[in-house]
Amino acid sequence: MVRKTLIAGNWKMNGLLEDGVSLAKGIAQEVKKAGRKDCEFLVCPPFTLLSSVKKAIKGSKVMLGAQDCHYAEKGAHTGDISPLMLKDLGCQYVIVGHSERRTDHYESNELIRKKAEAAINAGLKVIICIGETEAEKDAGKTISVCTAQIEGSVPEISNAQNTVIAYEPVWAIGTGRTPTAAEVEEVHAAIRKVVSKKLGRAISNKMRLLYGGSMKPTNAKELLALPDVDGGLIGGASLKVADFMAIGDASKQ
Ligand code: PEP
Repeated sequence: MVRKTLIAGNWKMNGLLEDGVSLAKGIAQEVKKAGRKDCEFLVCPPFTLLSSVKKAIKGSKVMLGAQDCHYAEKGAHTGDISPLMLKDLGCQYVIVGHSERRTDHYESNELIRKKAEAAINAGLKVIICIGETEAEKDAGKTISVCTAQIEGSVPEISNAQNTVIAYEPVWAIGTGRTPTAAEVEEVHAAIRKVVSKKLGRAISNKMRLLYGGSMKPTNAKELLALPDVDGGLIGGASLKVADFMAIGDASKQ
């Protein structure tokens, strides 16, 4: 089963115009040089940089994504951005359900499902994030938490073309800590089974599952070589061209 590797950078709330454009240009240049056919690269800058980053990556194969969206097409939602607006701007992807949004903005599985469905209906691909907290891990609840998150936040219209799931243990994000490779594979294999039950085996076999949480050049090779890991969602290390590209290189089999 060939699932094309996806290396996705989540810039979070980082980057002013000059830095953001220079980072995007650097990545675009290196991705062009690398000429990979087996791996896709995606950058997800903050909303304020989407337009400039789009220009900066023009002519390269780097794809553009946003970090969140509303579920409505338009209307009275001050401060929000609709999937249609993102599509209109040239985004191909949007991240939904990142743990920082689940925590900072009290986002529920139900809300994330609505956002994912709206984004897919607008013609975007979604990266739906799931993952357990440290307390949940310590209580042995990793698989049950991830199962509930998939059941609650992945819409019925999801398929392998329009949806990617990112497993991001909350305690591993930005901490420098990661689960062992065996733990990551166990969770990813379990996620694939839950997706299979929900959407069918054919979809589950083709759907890309990313690992996220302190992925860096030094641990990427081991994580990306796991059979059910199809790429990475990278935060901190996506803010440096060399680190982001080194993670990409680590995905070469
Ligand atoms: C993320 O926030 O999606 C993430 C994985 O962050 P980091 O790589 O910095 O842990």
